[in-house]
Amino acid sequence: IFQMRDVSKTYQMGEVKVQALKSVTLDLYEGEFVVLLGPSGSGKSTLLNILGGLDIPSGGQVKFRDWDLTKADDRALTHYRREYVGFVFQFYNLIPSLTALENVALVTEIATRPMRPREALGLVGLDERLNHFPAQLSGGEQQRVAIARAIAKRPQVLLCDEPTGALDFQTGKLVLEVLEKVNRDLGTTTAVITHNAGIAAMADRVITMRSGEIIKIQRNETKKAPAQLEW
Ligand code: ATP
Ligand code: MG
Repeated sequence: IFQMRDVSKTYQMGEVKVQALKSVTLDLYEGEFVVLLGPSGSGKSTLLNILGGLDIPSGGQVKFRDWDLTKADDRALTHYRREYVGFVFQFYNLIPSLTALENVALVTEIATRPMRPREALGLVGLDERLNHFPAQLSGGEQQRVAIARAIAKRPQVLLCDEPTGALDFQTGKLVLEVLEKVNRDLGTTTAVITHNAGIAAMADRVITMRSGEIIKIQRNETKKAPAQLEW
C-alpha cells in the first residue's frame, strides 16, 4: 500500500540541521499490522507523519498505491488525510463536553462512507459506555474512544503514534490488542509506534529504527493467534 524510496527528512533549526530520516526504503503491504520500535529521536514519528501526509520528506519518494504523495499539493494532501488515514496519538484529544458517541459522531458526520458511531464503539468494546463523557472513562477507555473515532470513517490506513504512551503496561497491552482486533476485523493497514516491545508478538512485522535509519525488520512467522478480548 506504501512504497518509500530513499526517503530523507532534514529539519533546519536556525544554524542547526537535524537529519531525522537518512535514506529510508520501506514497503508496507495491504492489510498488514506493523510495529515501529526504536530509541527516542530515531525518526519513528517523522516516518509515520510522512506516511500520513502530515509532513513532507526532504528527498526521496513516497507512494500510496499509485499516488506519489511527494508530488501532492496541500489540497491533495488534506484530501488524502481526510479520506484515507486515521490517526491515533498518545493523548486522546477527546472533546470533554461530548459523550463517547458524540465524539465519534463528530467525525462520521463529515465522512464519505462512515460506519455508525455505535458500530465503531462496538468494535472497540465500548457498547456500554456510549453516553459516558471522557472524564467518566478510564485512560484505556478514552484511548479506545479515540480509536473508534479514527476508524469510524473506514480509513485505508491507521497510524498510531505511541497510543499506549500514557497508559500502564496492562492497559496499554489491551489497547494494542484492540488495534490488532480492528486490523483483523476491518483489514485496515496499521502501523503502531510503541515502546511496549512485549507486543511485538501480535505484529506481522517489527521495524526497528536508529538514528534516522531502519536497522532491522523482523517478520513474525509465528504471529500469535489473536487473543479473545474480554471487555
Ligand atoms: P520519540 O520516541 O522521542 O517520540 P522519535 O523516534 O519519534 O522519538 P522523531 O520525532 O521522528 O523521533 O524525531 C527525529 C529527530 O528529528 C529528533 O532529533 C528530533 O529532535 C527531530 N525533529 C523532529 N521533528 C522536528 C521538528 N518539527 N523540527 C525540528 N526537529 C525535529
Ligand atoms: Mg515520536
